[in-house]
Amino acid sequence: MLRILPQSFGLILLLAAAALPQTRYIGKARWLGNAKAVVTHTIDDTTKFVPDAVDAMDRHGIKATIYLNTASKTIAELWPRMRAAVANGHEIGSHSRTHPCKWPDTEEFCAAAYTDAEISGSRDDILQNTPQPHVWSWCYPCGNCARYPFIQKRIEAAGYLLARNYRDEANNGHLVPDLNTFAPNPFDAAYTQVVQKKGGIAPTGNDQLPQLNAKFDQVYAVGGIYNFMSHPQWLDYGPEAFYEAHLRHIGNRIDIWYVPLGPLYAYRTLRDSLEVKPQGKRFQLRTALNRKIYNGSVTLEFISTGKPHLDGAPLPERPLSALRQWNGAFYTRAANRLWVTVPPAGTLEFR
Ligand SMILES: [Zn+2]
Repeated sequence: MLRILPQSFGLILLLAAAALPQTRYIGKARWLGNAKAVVTHTIDDTTKFVPDAVDAMDRHGIKATIYLNTASKTIAELWPRMRAAVANGHEIGSHSRTHPCKWPDTEEFCAAAYTDAEISGSRDDILQNTPQPHVWSWCYPCGNCARYPFIQKRIEAAGYLLARNYRDEANNGHLVPDLNTFAPNPFDAAYTQVVQKKGGIAPTGNDQLPQLNAKFDQVYAVGGIYNFMSHPQWLDYGPEAFYEAHLRHIGNRIDIWYVPLGPLYAYRTLRDSLEVKPQGKRFQLRTALNRKIYNGSVTLEFISTGKPHLDGAPLPERPLSALRQWNGAFYTRAANRLWVTVPPAGTLEFR
């Protein structure tokens, strides 16, 4: 009797497993929600124009990293709108406290300007004034100091995952760096193009709608990251002005993932770290990363006739739709092919 019981129990488990639908794990999707391409946006400086830019983005479903100088005179007026922006899927990044900026950006200048107050102080200001759990993104004021490894190390040591540059403004080098994927060095990270009028020390702007839209079309066609940056004080506003007309061209598309820059870089690390371990007909998901920083989801592709459940709870099915979050749990189906978007922890099972 004592010997039969465990055997019967094993048989029952075997029968239960056989009743589960056939499921095959294909792999990790490149982008969240199996999107075709990614759109990410960054805007710089603490000015009264920031809310106008964010309002325009919100009309078209664009998600941005909003780089603020946290000791600017007018910052107090911005925080309430910034808290709402964070709740709506935007990110607040640091553009230092006081925007130290000087040409030429010598090693001596950078060593003195990049203090703990500028780097860690601005980070703490953001954490204190918004519900954001982490500050992922740095942006070099005037693009200064981005090329120095000792400065990059200071940024990294303060917990930032990336630092956006603004290279060679005096010679228009900043206009179209044409980086349409992740930067080889995240602490000297370029972008696709600038979208703004002439400003600062630049000879010209980049505000011609046909060219702006054509550059996006190129990146979209190959499924890359369209990463554009703007200064809200160098834009025109209104639905027919170039900025919002460009947002209308690139926004609200069902096959694009709209995400700020920091969570996008965090996603790459999270995706790479995720272990998917088959256990019978179940899949154990785990990551060793800190989930306060890497707080997103990953999309896994399966072939199955079943419905995915995470830790016993059924996941909701969603049709293809513009994705404007970096977390969440749901799945999309096309015949027997499923794209399951889940946090990187728990047991996934198909029933
Ligand atoms: Zn700036």
